[in-house]
Amino acid sequence: MTGKYVIALDQGTTSSRSVLIDHEGRSVDSVQRSFEQIYPQPGWVEHNPQEIIFSQLGSLTDLLTSHALDAHSIDSIGITNQRETTIVWDRETGRPIANAIVWQCRRTAPIITELCSDFAVCDRIELTTGLHPDAYFSASKIKWLLDNVDGARKLAEEGHLLFGTVDCWLIWNLTGRKVHATDVTNASRTMLYDIRKGCWDAELLELFDIPAQMMPEVRPSASCFGVTDYPNIPAGIPICGVAGDQQSALFGQCCFEAGQAKNTYGTGCFLLLHTGDTPVTSRNGLVTTIAASAPGTAHTEYALEGSVFMAGALIQWLVDELGIAQTAAETQQLAESIPDTSGVYIVPAFTGLGAPHWEPDARGAIYGLTRGAGRAHIARAALEALAYQVYDLAVAMQADAGLKIRQLNVDGGASANDFLMQFQSDILQTQIHRPVNIESTAMGAAYLAGLTNGFWSGTEELRAMRTTDSVFDPQMRPAYANELLRGWREAVRRTC
Ligand code: ADP
Repeated sequence: MTGKYVIALDQGTTSSRSVLIDHEGRSVDSVQRSFEQIYPQPGWVEHNPQEIIFSQLGSLTDLLTSHALDAHSIDSIGITNQRETTIVWDRETGRPIANAIVWQCRRTAPIITELCSDFAVCDRIELTTGLHPDAYFSASKIKWLLDNVDGARKLAEEGHLLFGTVDCWLIWNLTGRKVHATDVTNASRTMLYDIRKGCWDAELLELFDIPAQMMPEVRPSASCFGVTDYPNIPAGIPICGVAGDQQSALFGQCCFEAGQAKNTYGTGCFLLLHTGDTPVTSRNGLVTTIAASAPGTAHTEYALEGSVFMAGALIQWLVDELGIAQTAAETQQLAESIPDTSGVYIVPAFTGLGAPHWEPDARGAIYGLTRGAGRAHIARAALEALAYQVYDLAVAMQADAGLKIRQLNVDGGASANDFLMQFQSDILQTQIHRPVNIESTAMGAAYLAGLTNGFWSGTEELRAMRTTDSVFDPQMRPAYANELLRGWREAVRRTC
């Protein structure tokens, strides 16, 4: 161990954060800087790559300065990042050829629709990458940049251009342009990576017209990527942990083995189930992704991933649009003020229903209103709707993987809601653990870096450091839980 701290760089969709973590695994301090969201046309979302660097490294400099830290105080740096967002830059000048195309951007949807008119192509992509073809992932975004930025394709073919997801862009800049590399978890979200063979897939690169020389080297999440070499940043700090945000959160929640799962209750929900060294193919529309592994793990490890589109966003809608509560937190008191919803169900299909229902055209609905229904019923039904959606995902995942989730580790803003956590435990009939430190995403990157550099001895030490804030055990009779679930299924059936 060389320094006293590990730093996690958490490069998110709306802000860049730097988090200082001590040897006991406590997050001591963090500095956050937001940056501009650019919407050039309806459905398009961009970030300025230079602003990503400046906001990220600005937050790092502020953190170091406010604690008077130098290179000797920092053991290592870990990076976690918004996934899929695509940057192409010139390897000589370091200048991006265009703004970053953000994961949310839909501009390349027509490219995907055209490709998928050939079912064999669609199947080939799914089989190789574990992903359902979508504009979300990097592949079609790189193609779009090469096809639409003046002169880009020629430059790429001549070997002048480099591609990277945000982790890769940060690594390249932070290491003084010496290292062009990404980690396996980020690679697995590009839709160009063979998740079984562990390499870029030549056929897919050809399908999307992407010269192989643009692609970064792919390394394990826990490995040395290089050392810092950037103006005004202390030199020589090893960067030795990298993972995309959701896989980083899975690692940060100490889900190191098959059967362990985490759910993040944010604007949406992200449920990930570790499936060990088996890449499970889903029959329910979930994606197969590579999980971050501790240093020295012999085999690639995998996870099943599913998301709920409207989670905290539904609670926020109650606050902002309906004025049912003053704050999101107040929904807990409202829900607890009544024994049940008296048969009120909300199906939050505002933007369709995702896995395992896959009904993009469904729209939200409230069912079972009677004259006795009030704002408490609506608030409670909304919180319960979050739990039912996570339940549906969890059931699908367990069936796909042939595994039982023994314990669900939670984080994200809405995990602070005790009513929601208890109801989730009741409906899933599974124990729920909420850690004191719910910064799982940053913790994952810090753990990966700290393990690689010997700051922590191994995953057992990480587990021992983890302190639980609350454990929620199922208290509801299974027969009653089933009765409530029957009502939910009926509401979903009527919505779809
Ligand atoms: P994100 O990272 O996706 O922006 P956060 O993890 O910060 O989201 O969580 C914010 C979301 O959680 C908001 O949509 C908010 O409405 C919801 N939320 C925050 N606190 C609570 C609470 N106590 N009960 C229910 N929902 C909450």
